[in-house]
Amino acid sequence: MRSHLKGIGASAGIAIAKAYRLEEPELKIVKKNIGDRDAEKRRLEQAISQSKAELEKIKEYVNRELGADKAEILAAHLLVLNDPELINPVFDRISTEGVNAEFALKESADRFVSMLESMDNEYMRERAKDIRDVTNRVTAHLLGVQIPDPSLISEEVVIIAEDLTPSDTAQLNRRYVKGFATDIGGRTSHSAIMARTLEIPAVVGTKQATSSIEYGAVVIVDGLEGEVIIDPSPETIAQYEAKKVQYETQKAEWAKLVHEPTVTKDGVHVELAANIGTPADVKSVLENGGESVGLYRTEFLYMGKDRLPTEEEQFTAYKTVLEKMNGKPVVVRTLDIGGDKELPYLNLPKEMNPFLGFRAIRLCLEEQAIFRTQLRALLRASSYGNLKIMFPMIATVSEFREAKSILLEEKEKLLASGVRVSDQIEIGMMVEIPSTAVMADQFAKEVDFFSIGTNDLIQYTLAADRMNERVAYLYQPYNPAILRLISMVIDAAHKEGKWAGMCGEMAGDPIAIPLLLSLGLDEFSMSATSILPARAQIKELSSEHAISVKGAVLSMKTSEEVIEFVKRTFN
Ligand code: PEP
Ligand code: MG
Repeated sequence: MRSHLKGIGASAGIAIAKAYRLEEPELKIVKKNIGDRDAEKRRLEQAISQSKAELEKIKEYVNRELGADKAEILAAHLLVLNDPELINPVFDRISTEGVNAEFALKESADRFVSMLESMDNEYMRERAKDIRDVTNRVTAHLLGVQIPDPSLISEEVVIIAEDLTPSDTAQLNRRYVKGFATDIGGRTSHSAIMARTLEIPAVVGTKQATSSIEYGAVVIVDGLEGEVIIDPSPETIAQYEAKKVQYETQKAEWAKLVHEPTVTKDGVHVELAANIGTPADVKSVLENGGESVGLYRTEFLYMGKDRLPTEEEQFTAYKTVLEKMNGKPVVVRTLDIGGDKELPYLNLPKEMNPFLGFRAIRLCLEEQAIFRTQLRALLRASSYGNLKIMFPMIATVSEFREAKSILLEEKEKLLASGVRVSDQIEIGMMVEIPSTAVMADQFAKEVDFFSIGTNDLIQYTLAADRMNERVAYLYQPYNPAILRLISMVIDAAHKEGKWAGMCGEMAGDPIAIPLLLSLGLDEFSMSATSILPARAQIKELSSEHAISVKGAVLSMKTSEEVIEFVKRTFN
């Protein structure tokens, strides 16, 4: 058994707690003949009512912490348990055949599930999953087996899982979940990004967390170094407690900069913005001294539901963010679904290469009703603050033109019907596909701004899946190929008098920051918790010195050479 695992530090900080394994328990069901049929029915009734009580509790928690829309999923689960077509046959079989409750329940659930799964429709397959989920909960009660429920955890734990989906991550209760470690994933997978938003220390891509860590074992998650220590000795615990205190002290130092502008030693201001996923995240942006929102990932409004959000729901979310930011810029990205962010209710066929497939702007230009609803909500919200809109995954100039013309069409329609729309909205695009970086000089004539999405730009340039820890060695932010593309984009923007920002995770990376300053980046948008350390770092850098090394940086050959240069030159 390993006592030390190396992974990727996905969210800074140290967590020390007992392991809570988030995995499906094994439910072994054997057919039995039951003597006392009435007692068996009472046992089933009790398991159903325990399950309902748990689901009610989870629903309340999700409703309180994550909003009514996310709680709808649990309401749907509760409905399953009240469905007479599923439940009545189970009681009937116990009465007539004298079989055990778990066996009768499994047979009834199997019948439903195979019927729904055979429908070749993603939505129905999701319903099948709901039935499986809920009946597994009842079965676990019948068998006396524990089902893991992250929202019901009531003591401090570190979550151990093969992987966490963005919605699993959103449901983690920060009071008790002190950290997490997963087998798979990379620094820019969306669960890692969520961990940083929630300020939960995390290590992903350890390959072996689930095979090495027992339920209840004491675990240290070091999100600073990307390490997991299993069953540490008292000395090791003391050492990490000290490291934790040191990190907290460092954080308290950074906190002093919260109301300060971000200015280099030689007086050049750069904008430090934050990436958010929900209106609730604005609180952390302001607490961490964010000067603006550089990326609002709107897809979270569409996730964790079983239907599209309405125009009104979207309007309220966008208006809330704009009002809370009180006139500071808010860059909202239109729907970027696809890759590791799925929407089961759209019933899209499974693809071989989801990161290269029918996603983001490609989907929005095809499914225009979805796109237009979002644009109307955004345009209506625009009069409540300083809104900028950008389109994700633009690959060609025609795509940008088409998206922009649909936006302008919706704007004209709203104005014609007397709705107030700001006339100051900047319209920009993400640069995350190499073709757009290469063509940045042409795009710069048509956009108001660029936001470089390095999370994807790196994976597409080096052809290395951002989610796959086995090719993580190729996922190289400091590869000169990436630096050259970034430089081309910034120069192209400046030549046309436009601004260039970056909202990929690279913008908050301490090694990248001096490089980006040297390339002339205007806006750095990052996880809110990275803002203060970035501000502290930038205050110690000279812009003039950084710019003077641009030529040297762009003529390097390898990522290692770049890293070594940064360490030597900027420390
Ligand atoms: C990016 O690709 O860099 C980006 C910010 O978008 P996302 O991480 O949501 O794909
Ligand atoms: Mg992206």
